[in-house]
Amino acid sequence: MSLTLRACYTATCDICGARYLDPDTDAVALLADEAKAEQTLRTAGWSVLANGYLVCEQTDAAHQQIPGQLSLGAEELSR
Ligand SMILES: [Zn+2]
Repeated sequence: MSLTLRACYTATCDICGARYLDPDTDAVALLADEAKAEQTLRTAGWSVLANGYLVCEQTDAAHQQIPGQLSLGAEELSR
């Protein structure tokens, strides 16, 4: 038996700390490269933000407030 070191990505939600799990195994998904990781996460309903934040697919109030974004007040919405 030999050991081989391989680098990979895992994904963690910046809001709740949930790890992205492989839907087939329910184990933490090991993603081969950054582009594949972003594609996989977006397909699973995660948000991959320009500032590097990851937000999982949950839709509660905490997940609706994206870090770095300002919410619109009623004044802006009525225009
Ligand atoms: Zn989350």
